[in-house]
Amino acid sequence: MHELSIAASIVEAVTESAAAYPGARVKEVRLRIGALASVIEDSLQFCWQISTEGTPLAGAVLRVETVPVTLHCAACQADAQLDGVQSFRCPRCGEPATELRQGRELEIDSIEIEDEVEQQV
Ligand SMILES: [Zn+2]
Repeated sequence: MHELSIAASIVEAVTESAAAYPGARVKEVRLRIGALASVIEDSLQFCWQISTEGTPLAGAVLRVETVPVTLHCAACQADAQLDGVQSFRCPRCGEPATELRQGRELEIDSIEIEDEVEQQV
């Protein structure tokens, strides 16, 4: 399962980052996922629940921001955003696009950490 290994690697990366803040709890993890990364969000959310269970990340919210596919068309000398991922042609002139600007992202955008000490004040 594709999403399960993604979830596992996110858990690993977040745990590593959170280690810098002992005693703090991770509240929220924001991801940027390109439309071409072929990640099913529902499935990823489910895998996230499983992967964080029993870890310090349990209960942390996973927020996914979908990054649209953006192509660069050499003919138009412009970037164009695609609605779908069916074709890689420029929506303006119909030429096959030469360059993919974005859409393959799979990265952690930010991690929100809740400091328990601060919360008790
Ligand atoms: Zn074009």
